[in-house]
Amino acid sequence: MHDETHDIYLCQVSETVSCGACCGLYNLPNLSREKLEILLSKRTEAFASVLRTEDGIYEFQRRNKGPHRLSRPFPGFHHCPFLGLIGGEKSRVGCLLHPAVPGNNGVDYRSLSWYGEQACRTYFCPATTKLSPVYQSILIQAIDNWYAFGLIVTEHALVTAYFKEVEFRLGRHIAASDYTQNIGVMDAFREFAELKTKWPYRRDDSPEPCNFFFENGLYPRPAVFRRTMDIRPSSYEEILRELDSGFSSARELTAAERLLDDLFLKTVRAIVYSSTSGGG
Ligand code: SF4
Ligand code: SF4
Repeated sequence: MHDETHDIYLCQVSETVSCGACCGLYNLPNLSREKLEILLSKRTEAFASVLRTEDGIYEFQRRNKGPHRLSRPFPGFHHCPFLGLIGGEKSRVGCLLHPAVPGNNGVDYRSLSWYGEQACRTYFCPATTKLSPVYQSILIQAIDNWYAFGLIVTEHALVTAYFKEVEFRLGRHIAASDYTQNIGVMDAFREFAELKTKWPYRRDDSPEPCNFFFENGLYPRPAVFRRTMDIRPSSYEEILRELDSGFSSARELTAAERLLDDLFLKTVRAIVYSSTSGGG
């Protein structure tokens, strides 16, 4: 999380929507929103009484190294113990060392983190440049909670493949208003985003919903797993790969395609209906 501003700032969006994926937020085993919320909430509470000295902060880091000892989905990727909940209502994820956090009195303590202040302040994940502004705009307006937002926002290839499919079916580019002014389309998009946690065809050895999006070749996303040779390629191959899919039979692949077909049909019908009826 960093300070620089872009036209659309994906890292901190609203009171309830933000992201900490590059700080390793989701790089924990047996992930669920409930577990993560409890972990972050306890940490935030504990950090409030930490003495803001080098020793105090290092001691907090040492005490909060628990998740590091567990088998992380991507062992070579950090999970920062300074991730916590921020904002007046503690309703979104953020950095406890950030100068704006109450108690830090405007001092930037990120130099004491694993990555160091410079990296924490200046890093931008590939989604910030690779996702088109229209897609970014839809994302920030559609997703209303930090957990779902951080999981989908870094998935630029998945999100782009989804919107490209909608555009192909419509025969034109989409505008943000196709979504933002249409409750049915927004709901269908949220349903798509939820596949990150609910995809029933995730391969057994997947890193769960965690995404390693750093372009350093350490953990490239593998091709779709097919248990037998007779499982054909799919017209949704890119989406299936980005969802970390694995299929044990041709029938399973067909069922996955139907699920996606239904979602796209629902989306495109709602957009077309809205543009022909002049309503949302
Ligand atoms: S993963 Fe990307 S969007 Fe999320 S906090 Fe990091 S730079 Fe921002
Ligand atoms: S110290 Fe750096 S890596 Fe850790 S939560 Fe803050 S910004 Fe993220």
